[in-house]
Amino acid sequence: MKKVYGVIGDPIEHSLSPVMHNAAFEALGLDAIYLAFRVPPQNVGNAIRGAESLGFGGLNVTVPLKEVAMHFVRPDELSKRIGAINTVNFGATEGKPNAFNTDGIAAVRVLKENVGSLAKKNVLLLGAGGAAKAIAFYLRDEGTSLVILNRTVERARELAARLRPPLGDTEIEWGGLEELPTRIEDADILINATSVGMYPNVEETLVTADLMHGNLVVFDVVYNPVETRLLKEAKKAGVRRRIDGVKMLVYQGAEAFKIWTKISPPIDVMEKAVRERLGSKMKK
Ligand code: NAP
Repeated sequence: MKKVYGVIGDPIEHSLSPVMHNAAFEALGLDAIYLAFRVPPQNVGNAIRGAESLGFGGLNVTVPLKEVAMHFVRPDELSKRIGAINTVNFGATEGKPNAFNTDGIAAVRVLKENVGSLAKKNVLLLGAGGAAKAIAFYLRDEGTSLVILNRTVERARELAARLRPPLGDTEIEWGGLEELPTRIEDADILINATSVGMYPNVEETLVTADLMHGNLVVFDVVYNPVETRLLKEAKKAGVRRRIDGVKMLVYQGAEAFKIWTKISPPIDVMEKAVRERLGSKMKK
């Protein structure tokens, strides 16, 4: 019988997960389908239990349900510390289903592909929301020196406190966005993990070309549009390594796919499906 997978969130119409996972199912010849379900926060428990009762293969959880869903699952240690999950796996022998957060591992995989080891690299992380938190925990474990800047300074401080103690001699510092011009001078890698620049506010950016140096690696987790204003500014500044958010999206989906099916999905197929939907050519 066809296995059903899905993503829950609100709004959910624009989710790229169905196109990405269905492309993988088709390429692998699996009798499965992935659907999007609009679920308001007050229904998240019913939705998870209902999906399990109906024999779903697995669920993704997206904005604004990643935190509230924690009450209805058994999160692994890391997602407990992050405070959010994005993947639910059914089939636990008893109790609540197991749950994970695959965003951070995806971001780190993308970065490592581009720069190699992240140990001792100076990373300037903008944001302290869901994406930033997930990325920060993984970066800490890679031994990076991390500076977290956020519009709401208190959230940056809280995140830095949750990350401590860092491993080895890595450092974690935090502050407000006004520190950006000075902090960026020492940065090897700039990560935008805020929603600034996301559709429809495509002309917005927290960093302009005049602040960037040519050796910087610029990674924008925003994937809609694929080439954000930040990445355009990076191009203008002569930054060679500019990384868009699509690969991270694909990798977090691929991690979930592996958790559910124990199969490594075809990354190229998933990326092509996403880039086509977003109207951009696939980058090799
Ligand atoms: P979130 O939890 O709502 O956090 C939003 C972050 O953006 C906060 O740090 C917020 O600062 C900051 N922010 C929002 N508007 C701002 C503004 N005008 N000026 C300065 N800072 C601003 O959202 P999220 O889940 O972390 O998602 C953030 C972005 O990452 C979204 O575009 C999302 O699509 C993308 N994302 C991509 C992937 C991927 O796989 N590529 C995965 C997850 C998320 P305050 O704390 O001050 O509000």
